[in-house]
Amino acid sequence: MRGRNIPNKILKWYDNNKRILPWRKKTSTKNREYFTLVSEFMLQQTQVKTVIPYFETFIKNFPNLKSLARASEQKILKNWEGLGYYSRARNLKKTATKILKDFNGNLPKDIDQLKSLPGVGDYTSRSILAIAHNKSYIPMDGNVERILKRIFLLKTNDEISKENLNKKKSFFGYSKRSSDYAQAIMEIGALICKPSLPFCNHCPLTENCMAFNRKDFLIKSKNKFNKTKYFEANVYGYKNKYLLIKNKKFNFLKNLLIFPMSEINQKKFKYSVHKKINVKMSNMNMKIIINKKTKIKRTRGSLFLDKTNINKYILPSFTKKIFNSVSH
Ligand code: SF4
Repeated sequence: MRGRNIPNKILKWYDNNKRILPWRKKTSTKNREYFTLVSEFMLQQTQVKTVIPYFETFIKNFPNLKSLARASEQKILKNWEGLGYYSRARNLKKTATKILKDFNGNLPKDIDQLKSLPGVGDYTSRSILAIAHNKSYIPMDGNVERILKRIFLLKTNDEISKENLNKKKSFFGYSKRSSDYAQAIMEIGALICKPSLPFCNHCPLTENCMAFNRKDFLIKSKNKFNKTKYFEANVYGYKNKYLLIKNKKFNFLKNLLIFPMSEINQKKFKYSVHKKINVKMSNMNMKIIINKKTKIKRTRGSLFLDKTNINKYILPSFTKKIFNSVSH
């Protein structure tokens, strides 16, 4: 099963098929380190095609570590608006500051030092070591997991455990082009070994793949599903302006502007006669009742916004959706 030519096959495929992505541009070492750092933060929980325009604008506005460390949190969040998981943006600023202060402006090459940076966990540190520093790591993302599950036809809970998948990673072997190699494997998962229908005809690994041999492509995944939560948003409008408050209540999107809201049960949602909207977040499905109020209690830090000044603020996508559904 283990072929010595696996890295060659994969890299040959990559050289001919890789996507042109803005963080893969040929550039100086310093820029490559910075581009990798920013893109890896953005790619946590977010798809490549969503990240591309954000990355380009971000790099235009914060071209290097110094400019990022010096920028106000407000400005960074504004550039992150719509990408979600805003703690990533705050951590990225803290990480830039720490690299300048503690590591002389150089992205660490040691895994423990990398993990000491805010927002950099095991996966991101391995990605940085492979992609920015050309060290022989293969970070295990969903794409790599899927390829291994199919190559070895892994189905049971024990077979798909993290521990077993890490062992099976030795299938990939090693290449001196570590940076390209890590990206190449993930790229095959993203473009060819797709979750529902893999394009095996374009894959360099058919000879080595048990799923291909048996024509059994069904993937066993750990139970992961998006929870549905129900909310009631209280909308108070006055002369085309709407009252928003800073979110201190919910653990998601902390400190961003939301309509005064509370979580409710499914029954209340079902029988409510008010207008309802659905918002898909990356970690939950929100079902929201929009309850227009004629009176509301203002709290500290609350403010009235209208359509003309809404863009000056950083608003979560569900706040915007409610705003658009009530304002004309
Ligand atoms: S041969 Fe098909 S199933 Fe196997 S790794 Fe390649 S794309 Fe995935």
